This record gives sequence, C-alpha cells and structure tokens, in this order.
Amino acid sequence: MTQPHPTLTPRPGILDIAPYVGGESGAPGANRVIKLSANENPNGPCPAAIEAYRAAAAGLALYPDGGAEALRAAIGRAHGLDPARIVCGAGSDEIISLLCQAYAGPGDTVAHSRHGFLMYAISARAAGAEPVAAPEANLTADVDALLAACDDRTRLVFLANPNNPTGTLLPASEVARLAAGLPARALLVLDAAYAEYVSAPGYDAGEKLVDARDNVVMTRTFSKIHGLAALRLGWAYGPAHVIDVLNRVRGPFNVSAPALAAGAAAIADKEYVARCAALNEAWRDWLTKRLAAAGVACTDAHGNFVLAHFGESGPHGAAKADAWLKARGLICRRMEGYGLPGWLRISIGDEAACRAVADAVDAFREGAA
Ligand SMILES: *Cc1c(COP(=O)(O)O)cnc(C)c1O
Repeated sequence: MTQPHPTLTPRPGILDIAPYVGGESGAPGANRVIKLSANENPNGPCPAAIEAYRAAAAGLALYPDGGAEALRAAIGRAHGLDPARIVCGAGSDEIISLLCQAYAGPGDTVAHSRHGFLMYAISARAAGAEPVAAPEANLTADVDALLAACDDRTRLVFLANPNNPTGTLLPASEVARLAAGLPARALLVLDAAYAEYVSAPGYDAGEKLVDARDNVVMTRTFSKIHGLAALRLGWAYGPAHVIDVLNRVRGPFNVSAPALAAGAAAIADKEYVARCAALNEAWRDWLTKRLAAAGVACTDAHGNFVLAHFGESGPHGAAKADAWLKARGLICRRMEGYGLPGWLRISIGDEAACRAVADAVDAFREGAA
C-alpha cells in the first residue's frame, strides 16, 4: 500500500476507492490461454469495422470530430433514435463517470444493487458522493429495495439490465416502476451493456422508457457484442437536458477517430450482431446444461456469460475450481470483489472454449470428489 502524502491529498473519498481490477488474461504455465474473464466477443468485430479502423490510419494527424456526428447518425439509424439525444464516450465507463461527476458530489448518494457493476461505486466515490448498495432478491435487482435506498440525497440510481456479474434481468414493468418511484432529484441510469444478447420477450433496453420519461438515461457499449473493447467506445441516449449536461462535461475530443469510424461500421452490420447473439445464446444454453449436469448451478443468464456456483470453500470450491481451470489455460473471473466468493463468472467463448470449460469442470468435479 502506498502511503498518502501528508499535504498533497485528493478530495475526500478518493482514497476509499479500491481500484478496479480487470479480468486476467494470462496463466503461468499454460501454453494456450482462452480468456473468459472480461465478456469480450470471441468472434471479434465485424469485417467492416476492422476495415474502417485500418482506413482511419490515414487521418491520424487530425483531431477527431468532437461532435461524433457520423457515429451518432449511424447509431440513430440502427436504433431508430434521434441523434441529437445521443452522446458518445470513451467506453460506457466514461459515461458512467461523467454522469457521476455532473450529478453527484459531496453530501449526495448514488444507489445501485448489491451485486451491481463495480464501476458505479468507484465513479460515485471519485465524484465525492457516497455509494449505497440495495439488497437483491435471488441475485436479481429488487425495485422495492432500490427505492428504499433512495432519499432526498440520492442523485443517481444505476441499474444494469441484464446485470453484470449476475446475468439476471428485471422485466420492463419493474424497471418502469423503479423510474416512476424515484425521488424528484434522482436520475435513473439504465446500463444496457448486454442488451443485444437479450431474447426475453418484452425487453426494453431503455429506449422506450427514456422516451416516456424525463428522469431516465440509457448507456450502451461497443465493447461487448460489437467486439471493439480495445477501442473504448460507448454511448448514452437520454432526455435533451441530460445530453446537454454530458456534452458540457465531456472532453472536446473524448472519442478517437479510429473508434468513431469502426463504431459506425459495426453498428450498421445488424446481421453480424444477430449472428453473434444467436451463437452466444446457443452456447450459453449448452454450457449452462453441461455445468448443471456436473452439479454446478448457474443464475438465469441473459448476457454473454454465466455466473456459476461452486461454493465458498472445500475441494469443490470456487478458488479450487478457478485454479484448476487456470492450469488448463481457461481464465475465468473470481467474484470476491463483488461479494460473491463462491461463484465464478465465465464468459461465453466460441464452441471450442465452451467445450473446454465443460470438459474441465467435469474432470474437476470427478477428480476433486
Ligand atoms: C462491460 C460493461 C460495460 C462496458 O464498459 P465499456 O467502458 O463500454 O467497455 C458497462 N457496464 C457493464 C455492466 C459492463 O459489464
């Protein structure tokens, strides 16, 4: 631990932040590694996005379009949204951070569900606000608990739907009830990072609720189904008053030109997105069944990962399972940081990756029994 400097100290709250630890990508000793720890798309981006990225090399001396005009237009076309109410960011992480900087500060609270995405609490603290975790029911966000966590100090409520790392989904009616029940000063942020993977009927990533209300903003990412995590690209759709605020606080050139170009190509390729979603669903269901047959239960998964229960300790526990998988080159995500020490989050890779995980878990359960 670095000791704080005696006089050159940051604002209160900053030193309470435990830095975000990303998914591991290496395994000492294993010669072939399959990374299943960061929910990346095993198929990569669509060919048009790679081509657009390469073509952007010719313009690297020039600043990007700070207004992200072409990309916002492409997003608007793909999703049937008004580009004027879209703002782009360097990953949706940046948008989460900008929302906290703009709306929450010392004396304010930011609510999220108990096993919500870690960046909500980190960004709240970075802004000087206090994160408040609402209990979940069955590893699923609980609207009554979230509403009970809110008071007149609450400025933001974050809900990932589907949630990472639990994978669980709230029905649109429950999300609408949350938005309708919030105190007047609280803005609901619907983080729809995994929206493209959802096949549940009646799902609204947030577009409809944003249009119906003035206190809801939706965030999206190019890091998951679009396969562009390395470029850092995300966007938000919200009421004009929120978009105006985000445009004031963001950096003037917060999205790089290669990201703008690749993103516009990626979002236009709806066929590619549909194909990736179908592959994900097929292999997610397959892996869930194989894990269940091995005695490892998963939550109801709606994203591109499963949350698998191994237990907290003993020869079958999550730590032992993680070590076993890692020794075979399969990198999964430990969940202690999320308060889920008995679980591993496993991204849905390609067919070979899913088969490798299922076989390794079978061997682990047999060998360790
Ligand atoms: C992966 C993820 C994001 C995306 O972050 P980027 O900064 O866009 O890469 C946002 N929210 C959740 C819940 C995620 O799992």
